[in-house]
Order: sequence, then C-alpha cells, then structure tokens
Amino acid sequence: MKKCKTLLGKLLKKSRRRPKLDDPASTPRSEKPVPHGPVEPQDKCLLIAKLPKELRLLIYEAVLVEQDRPMHIVPHDDSSGRVGHKRCTDRASEAPVWQHQCYGRWAEPGIGIVHLPFPPSDDQLLSLPLTCRLMYLDALGILYDRTEFSFKGARGIIALNSQIPIQNWHLMRRLHISTMFLTPTTYWSWRENMPPESPGKWLTACEALHNLHHLRSLSLDLILRDTFHREDPEAIDNASWIYVLGPLKDIEAVHYLIELNFIPPEPVLRTLTPYSFCLTQRLRPYKRSAFCV
Ligand SMILES: [Zn+2]
Repeated sequence: MKKCKTLLGKLLKKSRRRPKLDDPASTPRSEKPVPHGPVEPQDKCLLIAKLPKELRLLIYEAVLVEQDRPMHIVPHDDSSGRVGHKRCTDRASEAPVWQHQCYGRWAEPGIGIVHLPFPPSDDQLLSLPLTCRLMYLDALGILYDRTEFSFKGARGIIALNSQIPIQNWHLMRRLHISTMFLTPTTYWSWRENMPPESPGKWLTACEALHNLHHLRSLSLDLILRDTFHREDPEAIDNASWIYVLGPLKDIEAVHYLIELNFIPPEPVLRTLTPYSFCLTQRLRPYKRSAFCV
C-alpha cells in the first residue's frame, strides 16, 4: 500500500477512523474527545524547559500559519473518501476558488481537473507537531485556530469532517467554501463529483457546519445557474434558491459573507428571513477550460 504522506493522512493514524456523515448505515459519532493519553512534561527538552508557553506558541504560529494563503482541502479521486491539503498557489486568479489549479492537475483540455490521489505538499507541516505529544497538542491548536480552510464544495467538507477527530473539527475558526449549483437542483441529485454540487451532499455538509459554534469567519462564493439558460437569473427556480441558501441561514459566524453570481429574488429573501449571512453579488470569470460544464 502506498504510504500516505499528507497531513490529514497522518492525523488519521492518530485517531480511530470515524464514520462518514452521509453514510446512513454508520453509527452516530461520539462527542467524547478522542483519548490522547498522558502528556509527558518533556522537561529534558531545552526548548520546552527554557521557553515559556507563550513564546513557544509564537514559534508554532510562525512555522505553521500563513495568513495570506488558505489551506485547500482536496478530496482524493480514489473513492476512499480521504482528503489531502494544499496551500493556495493560485491567489491571483479571479475565477471561482473551486476552479483554482490548487485542487488538482490538469487533465485533457475541456475535460477538467482531476484531483490527485495524493496532492503534493512540500510544506513539511507536520515536522514540528510530530516532535512530541506536547508539541502536537499545542501546535495543532494554533494550526486549526489561525488557518483559513478552503473547501471545494460539500464533498471536501464531509470528507474532512469524517476523518479528523471531532475536537479538531471544532477548533476551526476560518472557513471558505466555493462551489456551483445547476438548477433545478433536483436534476443534479445524482452527481457524485462536484461541481455541479450534489444537492444531497450539500445538506449533509451544511449540517456539519451547523455544529461549529466558534467560527470567526465564514465566506462562500457560490454560483447558481439554470441548466439550460445559464445567463438568465430569472430562470433559476425559487425552490432551488431556498434549497441552497436555506441550510446556510442559521449558521453562526462573527463575519459571514455569501458571494453569489446573482442576487436572489425578493420572495426568496422573504422566505429565508431571518438569516445570519450578508449577501453580495460578484460575477467571477468562469474558466470553461477548467470545467466544461
Ligand atoms: Zn488556490
């Protein structure tokens, strides 16, 4: 078996694998923390013995955190449900974030992006946290607290939620989600690979986001387009608008912004009221070479 070198793969080895959220046959996950065992004081390590914790945390932050580069969560295309991570290298792109090259290598022109089974990452992110259990616990808290996690649709959210310990899931503070829906959403319920988003997976992913109660920022760039009349906002049926935005309306975040290609019609907004997000409109250039749909 090929050795998994990704951050999340290694973290997975540290905890018992949890069932997938969207697997109806799976047992409910435990809310109890994954046991870590006793944490040794590590008195013989000069770094730990001589430096107060406040200074050590600053070192961890300097090593692990890159404020201007989100960490993409990249689902593997090997039917395993696993995910990898990749720091963004496509920040200059004006296209929707889900079209970043960061999410995979280019396949044949017009076919789109294929996610790598093991996305390359040479950031050595785990070198420091894996030094000892004490550093692991302290540094991981910094990593989850200060990093912006960037998801390409519901699939990445569900995969990460199912694979990391639940206490780590609750450490996340900054999230970005980017995806596209073709409407009516019921036409696309069979989709497994996104975008276009799978409506069923979208509900499951939003359920996972509802469990996050300490988000400092949550931002989304969403595209809604009618399947046959892509440029006509009035062709989008109200039920699809509500299907997409309804599960988002009660999520809690200090800063909560949803960017849409079209602003929903008034009847939809009245149905959603009250909602916790701010809406803005932005037409990003769509890279048809990245995804032909
Ligand atoms: Zn990127």
